Amino acid sequence: MITSNCLSVNEGNHLTIGGIDTTKLAQEYGTPLYVMDEDCVRHNCRLYTESMNRFYGGNGLILYASKALCNTALCKIIASENMGLDVVSGGELYTAYKAGFPMEKIYFHGNNKTKEELDLALSLGVGRIIVDNRDELRRLNALCAEKGKKASILFRITPGIDAHTHDFIMTGQIDCKFGVVLETGDAMDIIRLASTMENLEVVGVHCHIGSQIFDLDPFCEAAKVMMNFIGDIKDELGLTISELNLGGGFGICYTEKDDPISYDKYMEAVSKVVKATAEERNIALPKILMEPGRSIVGSAGITLYTVGSVKSIPGVRNYLAVDGGLGDNPRYILYQAEYDFELAGRMNDEKNEVYTVAGKCCESGDLLGENIALPEAKPGDILAVLTTGAYNYSMASNYNRIPRPAMVMTSGGKARVIIKRETYDDIIKNDCE
Ligand SMILES: *Cc1c(COP(=O)(O)O)cnc(C)c1O
Repeated sequence: MITSNCLSVNEGNHLTIGGIDTTKLAQEYGTPLYVMDEDCVRHNCRLYTESMNRFYGGNGLILYASKALCNTALCKIIASENMGLDVVSGGELYTAYKAGFPMEKIYFHGNNKTKEELDLALSLGVGRIIVDNRDELRRLNALCAEKGKKASILFRITPGIDAHTHDFIMTGQIDCKFGVVLETGDAMDIIRLASTMENLEVVGVHCHIGSQIFDLDPFCEAAKVMMNFIGDIKDELGLTISELNLGGGFGICYTEKDDPISYDKYMEAVSKVVKATAEERNIALPKILMEPGRSIVGSAGITLYTVGSVKSIPGVRNYLAVDGGLGDNPRYILYQAEYDFELAGRMNDEKNEVYTVAGKCCESGDLLGENIALPEAKPGDILAVLTTGAYNYSMASNYNRIPRPAMVMTSGGKARVIIKRETYDDIIKNDCE
């Protein structure tokens, strides 16, 4: 099993999360079941804020990228950790609002925010809007004029760094639906245009170079490119940029193959680059914003399923079918994402069988994993998939009209439901005839 600060094995050889027996959770709340450990989420938050304090004098704010997992309970936890929030839709914004999240600490992203979403953001008074393109810039300026409001904005910049090749490459990322391109001069042009707009104040620049990144170099390179751009903006437009948002993308450990970098190492290296470039370009140190999503919630979550059938096709493979699938976790069918699997009630049994773990949806591709070593499984066993806290519930669907699972949160040895299991009536509640 991968190491995690919320998972362990008890005397009965059962998997525990936050000190609670997972087979008991499955029994009490049913399966499939998402389980999140609050203490682990808080621990992950503090690693970031402490790094920011240690290496950048606290001159920054950690924004949790809520697209990884968004619900009112989690928004309250993030607020109590004094962090900000990155939202990318009216729905995420509304969730934060209903949770009482401080609006001034919300950063509103998205490559095609609708007029209604921008309207909601202005009405609720979100702190910053990250403008993606010219059409949105004009739309926002006009809307601000209409409402008699002024908005503080950042620009999403495509810095020309692709972190998803083996050796990251520069200039590979011009072709991107997000943001304005730096190297063609487009980014400077749009900021020039924005600086003439009465209802907008340009306060920062933003970049996000990818996700599940294990390398320090692309982050440092991005910081350097962005700092030089801040220098260019000052030289060309006489405009001071006070916020540098470096996005998220920190890799986490899904299987033993993954080797994440520590946030201290990241923050130390990035601070060094930012400070050196500021001095070189004679610009003031900006406030740094970071937007971790996956690395805040991913390791804090697991999903519990009940094994329904085990089928052996001699010479081909063994299928193990569970009571969930792509509806609650589409990451395997989307990107063949890998996970660590355990039989929650038999943690010390030898893993001498190999399974393809299948979901219950009507798609042959509805798998959760292939070549998964487990003890010999039988119907009724509880299967735990680890590290499912990020991009599982948030990407879930009702395909095949399967209700979405409940989510339980553990803390201090206790469990509570934070999202109810959907019912069949929830499934038909918007059907009109
Ligand atoms: C997805 C995203 C994040 C979070 O990415 P993680 O890989 O989950 O850390 C942060 N910022 C932006 C703009 C994003 O699109």
